[in-house]
Amino acid sequence: MANNIWHPYSRLSVLNQTPPPIIERGSGIYLYDRSGKRYMDAISSWWCALLGHSHPRLISAIVEQTEKLQHSILGNLSNYPAEKLSRLLAEKMPDRDVHVMFASDGASAVEASLKAAMQYYTNRGLQGKDSFFSLKGDYHGDTLGAVSVGFVPGFHEPFKSFTSGKCFTVELPDYNDKGFAPTWEILEKNSERICAAIVEPLCQGASGMRMYPPEYLRDLSEACKELDILLIVDEIAMGFGRTGSYWAFEQAEIVPDIVCVGKALTGGYLPLSAMICRDSIYQTFSDLGERDNTFYHGHTFAGNPIACASAVEAMAVYDEMDVAEVSAGIGSQMKEHLLPLKEKQSVLDARFLGSIAAIELKDPDAVNNIYKDLLSKGYLVRPLGNVIYLMPPLIIEDTELSDLCKDLSLSVINKI
Ligand SMILES: *Cc1c(COP(=O)(O)O)cnc(C)c1O
Repeated sequence: MANNIWHPYSRLSVLNQTPPPIIERGSGIYLYDRSGKRYMDAISSWWCALLGHSHPRLISAIVEQTEKLQHSILGNLSNYPAEKLSRLLAEKMPDRDVHVMFASDGASAVEASLKAAMQYYTNRGLQGKDSFFSLKGDYHGDTLGAVSVGFVPGFHEPFKSFTSGKCFTVELPDYNDKGFAPTWEILEKNSERICAAIVEPLCQGASGMRMYPPEYLRDLSEACKELDILLIVDEIAMGFGRTGSYWAFEQAEIVPDIVCVGKALTGGYLPLSAMICRDSIYQTFSDLGERDNTFYHGHTFAGNPIACASAVEAMAVYDEMDVAEVSAGIGSQMKEHLLPLKEKQSVLDARFLGSIAAIELKDPDAVNNIYKDLLSKGYLVRPLGNVIYLMPPLIIEDTELSDLCKDLSLSVINKI
């Protein structure tokens, strides 16, 4: 069959060698290809399908909404699913006095947050606060604004000249070593130029599940307040229980100025994201004063009612099952199975946070062998460089989880 797809994040050498399996349907934690072969979705389809596939309640919500209203814009109009979802998201924030701007993909929520942070200061009449701060290795999406604050060398090298110079960075903190000092130094020195710090809270996903302690986030939040810098927390990958708390930032007991959500927001079934921003910021975007400070920003499908209906239902299910607790439980089971791998010669590190388990190997070729071995056994994982990780849907059963961990362990031990 002719295939005209340009596959994202897929190498031609691999595509040419093995055409990608055609996935025909999904059910629970499994995906099925057209030959009927079953794959356990051990990475929740790029971290979004927290409730697995074909969840009956999400399907009903989507079908019911589809029969009523498929799309209607949010510019000077509203719709019930978007209103309800904005309320649900606000209720989950430590400061409930927030405003939700919907977008479509994670990257578009990040773009909105960056632009809102920049304009917030021009609204206040401050010039020159047009740069950002982030940690090296942060990933915030693949659009150019997001790449400027989340430059991943392996992915973004060709765009370096376009995106560089707008973001101050420091290395991921090692709290036994220098702690917060390097960050404070950069923020203080450049506070007149930095409008916002943007972070992946507690775990840098795309650059290999690199984790850091909540203390750093707490220090960062305090420094930002002191220096009049906004704090944007990108919960797109870590939100909705993944780290063992509903939001990762809760573990640092902070109140962010802006939160970005996406991925698991709809249960992972439809593209929808949001930037959630505090009222004190929102109020500056007004045309009631001398100047028109309206935020002229938006996406055609922002607040799409079908996607919002799916998200409203997903958030209800998350509450009923207590995603944070379930996630923590999955995590401790994974840790029990996989921590012994840390002792192996060929393993550099084994890291755990919430329901994330990451095994970092010395040899990148071994990672590829493990990937192929697991795929042949019916497990879908997607290594990041020399890191192989698990982020299973939170509906995974104990026996399925222990099979997955046992087979991963065997594969790691045998393939290296
Ligand atoms: C995936 C991701 C994004 C980008 O989301 P898309 O929906 O792929 O555009 C942004 N930030 C983080 C932390 C992510 O993991």
